[in-house]
This record gives sequence, C-alpha cells and structure tokens, in this order.
Amino acid sequence: MSANTDIFISGGGIAGLTAALAMSRLGLSVTIADPTPPPAGAEADGSDLRSTAFLQPALQLFQEFGIWDALARYATPLETLAVIDCTGDPPHPKTERAFKSSDLGEAAFGWNLPNWLTRKFLTEAVADAPGADLRLGTGFRSILTREREAIVTLDDGTKVRARLAIGADGRDSPLREAVGIPTETTRYGQKALAFTVKHDVPHGNVSTELYLSGGAFTLVPLPDHNGRPASAVVWMNDGPEAARLMALDDQAFSEAATMRSCAVLGQLTLASPRRAWPVVTRRATKLVAERTALVAEAAHVLPPIGAQGLNTSLHDVRALIELAKEMPDDIGQRAWLDRYAKSRERDIHTRARVIDLYNRVCRSDAPPVQALRSLGLTLVHDVAPLRKGVMRAGLGS
Ligand SMILES: Cc1cc2nc3c(=O)[nH]c(=O)nc-3n(C[C@H](O)[C@H](O)[C@H](O)COP(=O)(O)OP(=O)(O)OC[C@H]3O[C@@H](n4cnc5c(N)ncnc54)[C@H](O)[C@@H]3O)c2cc1C
Repeated sequence: MSANTDIFISGGGIAGLTAALAMSRLGLSVTIADPTPPPAGAEADGSDLRSTAFLQPALQLFQEFGIWDALARYATPLETLAVIDCTGDPPHPKTERAFKSSDLGEAAFGWNLPNWLTRKFLTEAVADAPGADLRLGTGFRSILTREREAIVTLDDGTKVRARLAIGADGRDSPLREAVGIPTETTRYGQKALAFTVKHDVPHGNVSTELYLSGGAFTLVPLPDHNGRPASAVVWMNDGPEAARLMALDDQAFSEAATMRSCAVLGQLTLASPRRAWPVVTRRATKLVAERTALVAEAAHVLPPIGAQGLNTSLHDVRALIELAKEMPDDIGQRAWLDRYAKSRERDIHTRARVIDLYNRVCRSDAPPVQALRSLGLTLVHDVAPLRKGVMRAGLGS
C-alpha cells in the first residue's frame, strides 16, 4: 500500500513535530513517523527527562502555530542568569555575576519546559491538524529517491511517496544514514547527567551555571514539585566521574550534587531518575540530498550548554517554513534544497564552533584558562556594552 504526501518526516521529537505542525498549517499534507509510542508522563519508561529553555525565536514559532497558549502555564521564565566560576575541592564560588533580562527590557531570556511535556502537547496538536498523518509506533526503514520524489518504506512495510523527506530522527539519524550523508564528530570524553531536584531555597526564576573542571553544572528553574521549589539539572563531567556518580544511591547522589552546586539553592534532593548523555559536537557534512533535508540533531549535535541545541534546531524548522511559504511549488527540488542548506550552514557552523570553545573553556582546570575564565566573566558582565551584546546573542536570534 502506498500513500502520497507533500512532506514525509522521520522522527517525532520536538523538532520533527514542530515541523509537521508548521507544514500542515501551511496547507501541506504531512506524514510523520516515529517508532516510539506517544509520550505519557515524566515517570513513563524512556520519557525524555531533559528540559529545554526555549529562547525568543522558538517562542515566536510556537506562538505563530498556536501551541504556546497551551504550554505557557507550565513554563518557567528565566529572568536572571547567574554565572559562578568555581574553584577547589569541595568547590566554592570564586567569581559570580548575574545577568538580568530586564537590563535589555525583556521579560525573560527564555522559558523552561520539560521535554516530555512539550512533546506531548505537540503530539496532540499534530494529531488534530488537518492534513497531518501521525504514525507513532512506526519507524522509517528505507528510502529511494529520484528527481521527482522520495519513496519511503516504513517498518510496517507501508510506502509513502513524498515531494520532500525531512530527517528529524535524532543524533544517529537513520534517514541521514540511508541517504549516505557522512558526519564529523568531536568527542570530549564527557557525559551530561540530566535529572530534576527539589531544593530548600526558592530559585526566584534564576538559572544558575557553575563552572568547574569536568564541565558546567546548570540549574534551570521549574514549577514547584509537590509544594517544594524544583529545578532541572544538567551536570557535565568527565566520563569516569559520570559513571561513578550514576552508580551512587539517590541519597549519596543528592549529597554530591549539593556539594557541586556550592549549595546555592540549599540542599538538593533528587526528584527524578537520572539519565546520562554523551557530550559531542557532530555535524552532518551536508544538510541536503536528493529530495531530502536534515534538521535538528540529525544535522547538528552540540554540547548542552548555553541552551543552544534545540533552539538551533528550531531555526532549521523556521528556514524550511519560510521557503515552503515562498516557493511552495518547488518544495524538495534541488534549487529549493540548496537554498535551505545555504540559509543554515553558516549559522550552524558558527554555533558549533562557539559552543565547542565555550565547553573547552568551562571545563578546563589549567590555571591560565581558569584565570581567563574568571577575567572573561568579569569583563563580559562589568562592561555594559559587552554585557548587553552577549545577552542579546544569548536570546537566540
Ligand atoms: C542533557 C541535555 C540537555 C539539553 N538542554 C537543552 C536546552 O536547555 N535547550 C536547548 O535548546 N537544547 C538542549 N539540549 C539539546 C536538545 O535536547 C536536543 O537538541 C533535542 O532534544 C533534539 O531534538 P531532536 O528532535 O533533534 O531529536 P530527538 O529528541 O532525539 O528526536 C528524534 C526522534 O527520532 C526518532 N527516531 C529514531 N529512529 C527513528 C526511525 N527509524 N524512524 C523515525 N523516527 C526515529 C526518535 O524516537 C526520536 O523521537 C539538551 C541536550 C542534552 C543532552
């Protein structure tokens, strides 16, 4: 059996679902497939426990496609970004600075939402969207492309013929593999542990990043959890230390996290399972192939600092939407795909370089780099034009 559609999307993560919603709102027919079942809740097996601080451009996208009103009441605004350069063992703060969004006349730098929740709302919106065919529990298996179309086979044997196939199927993208686009990967020997904590001291909508050798420890505000203040944590570590921490029992792990956080929010208590993610920079060497475009982690994976990963992905989705609006009859044609690649390559390259450097500086224990880190933080904060420039860049435009 085969179905015809304008767009086929492999991968129903946040990026794939956002693309599906946006394309269907443009009046295009979309088929989106993902082998995982619909997201249930934070406690469900395999639930994505990360949270994403959505920056302004992502927010605008969600507003434009009518999803933001439903999400807004679960989102925590990040009004202040506190940066603390730490030293010693146990760690203690050496240099501290706070960046306020009000300094730029903005309500917040971004809005933080748990990934499973965002995916749940997007799934429901796509299921209701006219022209969208959502196939959860069915994955992409293979693709055959020719000049006029892509013919996709799903893992239940059904075939989909599309003008354009979008690979939004994550860092190990099966669609990217199938069309033969190679990747370049930088490994850091680091792992990022993602989990949520309850704590004694209210976060006051402040997101806190603490730098120390091994990598950044980031606390991002969440709504209260059973009446207690709560935050999402991303804790980057060298591989062996990450393995040691993952093996600790919950109480010992909570103690270790409290110590690493310099107790800025008082005692931290683990409030979710923990998940470890390898930290890499990976870039697809090309963003397009015949009748195929890559977006999000299928195209680029960044270390999880500076809230850039998914936000960069939504810039990819935005670029596809603008082209679909501008040249609807040419969707998937070579010139159309080339324009997509051209519009995204430079931005992706620059962000990957900056985040790579940022990660190396943040995790270094070499005294000259540490001194530079503290000096850099002081300068960036205390020199007003520099501070405002960096803050504007951090807003994600
Ligand atoms: C610890 C951590 C914290 C982060 N924090 C932030 C943050 O604060 N801000 C930010 O902007 N970014 C952040 N990121 C990055 C962000 O989470 C990722 O960029 C984003 O989740 C990736 O989205 P995606 O849709 O590309 O991939 P995924 O969410 O991985 O989705 C890919 C989908 O493809 C599906 N798939 C796999 N195989 C197939 C197949 N054969 N057929 C069809 N579908 C398939 C998968 O089931 C999955 O649902 C963080 C990353 C990490 C590791």
